[in-house]
Amino acid sequence: TLEEACRTFGTRIIRSCHSLKDVPKDLDGIWERISQEEDEIPKLAVTPANSAELSRFLNWSSGLPQRDRLLVAIGDFGVPVRILAGRLGSLFTYSSIISSNVPLAAPGQLAPQVLNANYRIRETDDKSDCYMLLGGKSVVGSLSPFLHSRAFRDSGKDALMVPLPSDSIQAALDNMRFFRTKGAAITAPFKEEVLPFLTFQSVDVQKIGACNTLVFGDGTLAGYNTDADGFERSALEFLGRSDFRGLKVTLLGAGGAAKSVALALYRKGAECIILNRTISTARALARKYGFRWGPLDDRAIDLITEYSDLIVQATSVGMQGGIPGDPLAFYEFDGHEKVYDLVYRPAKTTFLKRAEAASCQVSNGYRMLCYQGAGQYRIWMGEEPPDSYIAG
Ligand code: NAP
Repeated sequence: TLEEACRTFGTRIIRSCHSLKDVPKDLDGIWERISQEEDEIPKLAVTPANSAELSRFLNWSSGLPQRDRLLVAIGDFGVPVRILAGRLGSLFTYSSIISSNVPLAAPGQLAPQVLNANYRIRETDDKSDCYMLLGGKSVVGSLSPFLHSRAFRDSGKDALMVPLPSDSIQAALDNMRFFRTKGAAITAPFKEEVLPFLTFQSVDVQKIGACNTLVFGDGTLAGYNTDADGFERSALEFLGRSDFRGLKVTLLGAGGAAKSVALALYRKGAECIILNRTISTARALARKYGFRWGPLDDRAIDLITEYSDLIVQATSVGMQGGIPGDPLAFYEFDGHEKVYDLVYRPAKTTFLKRAEAASCQVSNGYRMLCYQGAGQYRIWMGEEPPDSYIAG
């Protein structure tokens, strides 16, 4: 038989079980069946349907005795296991050439170039410092891990950043602890959900009511927010100013990102009006800083005209793969407005293109992303970030 031939020539056998729908209940029983022969390599591939299922699989793996093995998690929730396979005791990870005419070998597999360039898989090992990007499914493919990995490389750090797509903050925190995570960047929808779990909140977290940076300690979890600083630095650079004093600003949106922008505008002296689809959240945010507020529709045209030195777009409209459109379609730019869109993918949204066509000076949110990332590096490493964060 093929099995006998393998044994004769000393070829090791990978004996595998794939669960393509879920993480089976009887993991012990399956493992028992596929790990009978000592010289074989048992391989178990499961498909977690959510963060809690990934958590169960990870915890189960930590009770396994040492031996050559392969543990794989298929699909979006399994992506961190593909990058950190060694932390589950796997001998190697599976990867796919990604191209339009070759189908993915399995959902969640990453291209070798991505594993190397974005996640430093060949430059790091199981002892390297692990940082994670926590968010929804869109964190796979986010620019952040690439920016941080490049900075870690440039400053000689033995560290990597891994995306952790999640649907539950509690399970995500458990999973980060499993991977011995030192710090994390947080994006939507967890910036507010994480607050009850923090043992320390920085002043900006308390003021903004959202956290974008975590530091894990022994039984502690510290939360910081670098978005307000990131916006402030990039917007002041864009305007060529050292503060917002004397500027009348329209801020579109009242979600997590807009809360950071509002703090930055307030502390550097802007006068501001906040417009949002849901007017009650615009009012709550505006009241915090003594700003005005209004609806995000044509009833606000006169107010925008009054507050039009700078217009900041902080809604999620226009994001690649998200809600299409122009949140200010009812307003005609006259060219004197400086226009800043927090969205950076695509590089120019419909809103920004329209402003540019009307001769407005425009900026997207790429620099903000870089500066808030540099702020995260400063918190995690306790030293100045390398220039690569702003290298473009
Ligand atoms: P969020 O907390 O979910 O808030 C979303 C905001 O968009 C809310 O004001 C919401 O209004 C508004 N909105 C959603 N759908 C809308 C629609 N169809 N029409 C009008 N308004 C709509 O999201 P977030 O965390 O604030 O993020 C907002 C954007 O900022 C995202 O595109 C994100 O990528 C970007 N961002 C960029 C950076 C950077 O570094 N450049 C950093 C953070 C965030 P309601 O209150 O009415 O729902």
